[in-house]
Amino acid sequence: MNMLVEQSFERMLDNTAKRAIRLAERSALDNPVDLPIAAIALRGAMIAGEGTALDQKLQQPHMHAEVAALGRARHNHIDPTILVSTAEPCVKCQIAIAAVESIETVAFVVPRWMLEAKKLVNPGKPIDPDSLPYNVIQLDDPEQIKKALEPYDFTQRTPATNGVEAVTKVDSDAFRAHLAERPSAI
Ligand SMILES: [Zn+2]
Repeated sequence: MNMLVEQSFERMLDNTAKRAIRLAERSALDNPVDLPIAAIALRGAMIAGEGTALDQKLQQPHMHAEVAALGRARHNHIDPTILVSTAEPCVKCQIAIAAVESIETVAFVVPRWMLEAKKLVNPGKPIDPDSLPYNVIQLDDPEQIKKALEPYDFTQRTPATNGVEAVTKVDSDAFRAHLAERPSAI
């Protein structure tokens, strides 16, 4: 890959992450019962499908953002090559993504340990990237990570205990007020 192609690939991932962060923000405003996470499936530079976490809203435990985005891509009859998520996909999603043979690259903004530190996900064993059939890229722009983390300042989660599911609550009104006061859009 020459330098120019590489740079524009990175820029495309960054721009897609930016769009995904806006989707996650919208999720935090509209859907207070799920973690505000969004994912976008691309085929090259074309958007194949977008999704946010809907597992609690739809009562479909597998319906994380990544699975929702891949489902939209399938619905649109587009084989995606790239998946960009606002947060590092969980193990279940990594496996679901691996089942989509056309996916070559998975990129994410917020690493899982940051969500663990905020007690929004259970600590899990990190997946070995070498075991996955696609490249995994962490987008490490500090400004973008900061922006992607913002909705989680308004999100609480009581963890799952024996037989009781985790309960997520987003304070959408407080987040809306925060967005209104934020100096500039990304
Ligand atoms: Zn997941």
